Amino acid sequence: MFGLCTLGLTLPAAAGAQTAEGSGAYGGTQFYERPVIRDLQCRTGCTRAARVSQAGWVSVKEKGVLRIRGRNFDDVGQVLFLGGSGTADNVGVAPQARTARTLDVKVPVEAGSGKIVLLDPAGNGSEPSRARLRILRTANSLSAQGFIWPLPTRGYLTGHYGEDRGSHMHSGIDLAVPTGTPIKAVAEGRVILVGPQGAYGNFTCLRHARLVTCYAHQSEMLVTYGQFVKQGQQIGTVGSTGRSSGPHLHFEVRQGPEAWTTPLDPFKFLPRRF
Ligand SMILES: [Zn+2]
Repeated sequence: MFGLCTLGLTLPAAAGAQTAEGSGAYGGTQFYERPVIRDLQCRTGCTRAARVSQAGWVSVKEKGVLRIRGRNFDDVGQVLFLGGSGTADNVGVAPQARTARTLDVKVPVEAGSGKIVLLDPAGNGSEPSRARLRILRTANSLSAQGFIWPLPTRGYLTGHYGEDRGSHMHSGIDLAVPTGTPIKAVAEGRVILVGPQGAYGNFTCLRHARLVTCYAHQSEMLVTYGQFVKQGQQIGTVGSTGRSSGPHLHFEVRQGPEAWTTPLDPFKFLPRRF
């Protein structure tokens, strides 16, 4: 019962406790009542699972619409997605529709699963939602930079970017998946390197608009030098060639436009893991 859950809450503090210099209609101080979140609801981009959650989770596909219900929403300027699991947490966006008691917000691709906070123009935040948003993603979800995941499944992250590997820094991420798993181009691009490359084993690099992506240890390479590939096109299969202790994709993002430029953290470019 939704009505019951307000019983234990204190009423908003007297408005004077949350004043802000404002340009009220009469030139005086403007008061904002602190927004209070009651529950989260999936509006569009929902699964068949429960659409409403007060204390648990509510699932919304990315770019779906989350409905936040509660009170004192008239002055909410930003919905803050707290995330909780990644480096790009605390993503704030303006609601797309509102009443005093409901706010609809499109879930941005940068947002991470987690709790929600509402901010009024004076910067006052609501208490975090009790319910958490779970953002549903697929292997074909686009990142903010327009990349897809390079494999049809998430894989098991066995190596992070920047790890100290003794003689060198790990220049990519390692995703363990079975031999033969298709490797997909994360974005459209041109093949600028393909062939055996020592420790990298069978290695392919693609040039995109401003970046280069590379795919190592393949069992099979399915593209040729100079070929144009589409986003999502299979360019090879996962293997364990080169210096590798088991089947995995070693994936790199490098500054463009040549093959052996400075490596970058792939998780700054890939969709959040799903
Ligand atoms: Zn690696």
